[in-house]
Amino acid sequence: MDRESIRKELRCTIHPLNSLKTYKYTVICSNFKGKWILSRHKDRNTWETQGGHIEEGETPLEAAKRELFEESGIVDADVYPVCDYNGYNSTSNANGMVFLAIVHSLGELPESEMKEITLFETLPDELTYPLTSPVLYAEAGKLLAKKQRGRKQSEINPFENSDSNKRYYTYDYFLKKTYGGKCAKIPLDAGFSCPNMDGKCGVGGCIYCSSRGSGDFAESSALPIAEQYEITRQKLSKKWSTERCIPYFQARTNTYAPLDKIKEKFEAALGCDGVVAMNVATRADCLPDEVLEYLAELGNRVDLTVELGLQTVHDEVAEIINRGHNYAQFVEGYEKLRKANPEIRICVHIIFGLPNETDEMMLETAKVVGKLRPDMVKIHLLHVIKDTTLAKWYESGDYTPLERERYIELVATALQYFHKDTVIARLTGDGVAEDLLAPDWSRKKTTIINDIDKFLFENDMWQGKEFE
Ligand code: SF4
Repeated sequence: MDRESIRKELRCTIHPLNSLKTYKYTVICSNFKGKWILSRHKDRNTWETQGGHIEEGETPLEAAKRELFEESGIVDADVYPVCDYNGYNSTSNANGMVFLAIVHSLGELPESEMKEITLFETLPDELTYPLTSPVLYAEAGKLLAKKQRGRKQSEINPFENSDSNKRYYTYDYFLKKTYGGKCAKIPLDAGFSCPNMDGKCGVGGCIYCSSRGSGDFAESSALPIAEQYEITRQKLSKKWSTERCIPYFQARTNTYAPLDKIKEKFEAALGCDGVVAMNVATRADCLPDEVLEYLAELGNRVDLTVELGLQTVHDEVAEIINRGHNYAQFVEGYEKLRKANPEIRICVHIIFGLPNETDEMMLETAKVVGKLRPDMVKIHLLHVIKDTTLAKWYESGDYTPLERERYIELVATALQYFHKDTVIARLTGDGVAEDLLAPDWSRKKTTIINDIDKFLFENDMWQGKEFE
């Protein structure tokens, strides 16, 4: 039998640790941030564990550490014995000991018989020992799971876009990387209307929209922009640093006005002290050419983020919530904006808990939006706000809000569908506490976010894990 056939046919039996007494081989299943590290031999196109003969005078553990270095370059690892095994084929058999290496940092592959190492989420099909390796990895995986349960999240976070053990790309981290630290977001009300309120594409607005057009924290639109900005900045400065500010045109639809009015409001905001960037919330169906041209030019002068409300990719639900546009119209506006100036960041808003949406439909929205590769995403929980159409449905029993546990699971699952570089700018809804009718549990935002973190950790999930 040739050597390749021997490798292919090698099988094994598993035995308790130290029960076989004499050992010829060591096998190391090495894991870095949740991924298995396999090596490829210079003469083979298949993947294998690190491992090999125990040399004279060596203990199995010493041999394991040596082989780990020689075949992967790794020295920064905790190496634990897992079990004994007996490898056999039709003509021979030998004992070995299996080790788990929890790797803290990768090293440089030394001159050896190995050509390269690669990290795998799951074992590849092309294994040098296809009948043996899966059995050994299964044993090592059990020990890894035990060790992880006993370790702090900080030691095993596989998500790279974070400096705080979060498993998603937080807005705080984005601000830190982009502007050097936290920025105060200053909500502003330009006093514009919305085409979904004034009859252009609908009347009455979206069923959940508050009386201030989702701009509840801004000062009155009767005040000049600079004054609104200064009042809010002063208020915020009592709690936070307002050295760096981001004026945020939040209320209603901020590109739905004559161009000269839009310019007047936006330029007024840009002239305020401490401005490092600007955010503008609008609808994707409200981006006529002359406005796009202005935004494109503005995007060259200031760090501009345009926030586009989508809420759902399901047209039948968009109709129920009286959204006033469908998904195709959204995509048309999104792409026009992207093309107008790729430097403009696009933030897409989606909502979980819309009437008649199943879990599958909400996750479908996350998947589809994830593929658009927006720069940012805001995930909102649908709030029932006083004096809205939704409030009437809720009070008459025609609408039931999402339960807390379901929301946490949905958000954690959805995060997996966004690319790792998409900033997650919000994970829950936000509104005026006195106007909130339901869900009551949504008032405790910090605990919800903590529980999303916990769910991600316990279920080995992170942003981008399922991004295709
Ligand atoms: S598009 Fe925005 S402002 Fe207009 S009705 Fe809907 S939620 Fe309100």
